[in-house]
Amino acid sequence: MHVKVLGSSSGHGQATRTTCFVVDDNCLLDCGSGIVDLDAQALLQIDTVLLTHSHLDHCSGLPLLADTHISHGGRGVDVYTQQETIDALKQQMFNSQQWPDYTKAAAGNVPWLRLHAVEVGDAVSLPDGIATALPAEHKVPTVGWLLEGPWRALAFTGDSGPCLPFWHWISHVPSLTDVICELSYLNENSSKAMVDGHMSPALLIPMLEILPPNVHVWITHTDNRQRTQLLEQVRKELPSLLHLHPLEQGISIEL
Ligand SMILES: [Zn+2]
Ligand SMILES: [Zn+2]
Repeated sequence: MHVKVLGSSSGHGQATRTTCFVVDDNCLLDCGSGIVDLDAQALLQIDTVLLTHSHLDHCSGLPLLADTHISHGGRGVDVYTQQETIDALKQQMFNSQQWPDYTKAAAGNVPWLRLHAVEVGDAVSLPDGIATALPAEHKVPTVGWLLEGPWRALAFTGDSGPCLPFWHWISHVPSLTDVICELSYLNENSSKAMVDGHMSPALLIPMLEILPPNVHVWITHTDNRQRTQLLEQVRKELPSLLHLHPLEQGISIEL
């Protein structure tokens, strides 16, 4: 299984894109503005989206992804996420005002956008592995995702503050080699991070201490202006047997 980073920033500017990873050629993990770097042919190969939550930096690409399938004769897309996120997408995005309601079938046809509700622990089969929804703590209902390939496993926190069940869960996955962790606030803003359901280095370190040794920890969802400082604050306290990396656009992880 091949995971490529199309976007890993919390916002735009300086050529950055928001959260979107492409898994093999057919699946997206979140659908933020990183999707703009896929051409029409690549977009038509996407038939599955694993979505963490309803915030636009993670789902803004969905309307035009569906549009590309409609206008180029694609098969449409299956989206897996929590029921609360499905409700938000239907009420606020595919509501026939903001965008056409592609979640409804025309007579006798299958909808272009097929929204499937998952709960924590539910698994989705992928061509070369399996994805499992994981717990998360954020301002709106959110899941993280575990991707298990033939050889290795990667966990993604989604947007989340410190969520002990997530970290205990992944620490028991024998093939775990990589964790993509959001990091949005500096240590001096840890109390705001708790309120907003995001992570600061001081909140992240006790979670990392739960991990087994030799896991690669990839930092995502940073503001570019604070990225160096955020990484310095983590590095100072990082458990000694973990490997820390900034998650950059274009990076690939093999599972
Ligand atoms: Zn969010
Ligand atoms: Zn976000």
